[in-house]
Amino acid sequence: MEIQFTGKTALVTGAGQGIGRAIAKRLFEHGAKVYALSKTSENLRKLQEEAPGILTVIVDLEDWEATQKAVKDLGHIDLLVNNAGVAILESFLDIKSESFDKVFNVNLKAVVNVSQTVVKQMIADKTGGSIVNVSSQASQAALRDHAIYCSTKSALDMLSKVMALELGQHKIRVNCVNPTVVLTEMGKLGWSDPLKSGPMLAGIPLGRFAEVEEIVDAVVFLLSDRASMIHGTTLPVDGGFLAC
Ligand code: NDP
Repeated sequence: MEIQFTGKTALVTGAGQGIGRAIAKRLFEHGAKVYALSKTSENLRKLQEEAPGILTVIVDLEDWEATQKAVKDLGHIDLLVNNAGVAILESFLDIKSESFDKVFNVNLKAVVNVSQTVVKQMIADKTGGSIVNVSSQASQAALRDHAIYCSTKSALDMLSKVMALELGQHKIRVNCVNPTVVLTEMGKLGWSDPLKSGPMLAGIPLGRFAEVEEIVDAVVFLLSDRASMIHGTTLPVDGGFLAC
């Protein structure tokens, strides 16, 4: 499928490593001007070494004011990928107030902040646009030690649907991609122990975890005009985990 983003500007959050980094590189390959936003400058420096031409934004998404200013300063964005995420694994009885705040701040509140800023400019410029929020299979399935993480992703699915409801009139499409486990740094945190990965793999009909590029394919498709009538959906990329 031929997809070109020439003349489009994209912003990818959490692009320092893992899935976001691969999304930023792919969008750049497809011709977009790409802003890669993340917290750790070293990760973004390495990304720029690999893909000179990608522009970087260093900001902590937990800082509402700094994030709003950094995103506003970028000007018009056509394609937004809210990908940044954190997971702190605690059993329900061990959940701490600080973990609750951090995971909700990055996985949900920052999506509101970044999207509001980007969308206001899209509406002012009357261009329309496309937003993909990277959610998770954890939005729809209970996972042990993931109470807060699962809750943020459930909320992200619903936030995305309400955004779709309200922003469709401005020709701004909003969708979610909901991956199964991908063995990035975050994926390894939860699933490198065979005692945990074994039962998870047993629940995935295709019998394996996802590769980063399989998530990127879904994100790129939903961002593109090839998905011009797809709006307000949650697309599992999960080898069938949520179907069973
Ligand atoms: P990684 O931990 O590999 O990468 C996360 C990225 O988010 C990093 O670049 C990190 O920045 C950035 N980030 C985290 N907190 C902040 C912050 N406060 N401010 C700015 N940037 C921040 O995660 P993945 O690539 O695995 O995950 C990407 C998305 O996919 C997440 O939303 C995750 O929930 C989702 N997902 C992941 C799955 C998996 O198994 N891996 C499965 C399902 C969904 P820095 O480079 O500075 O560290």
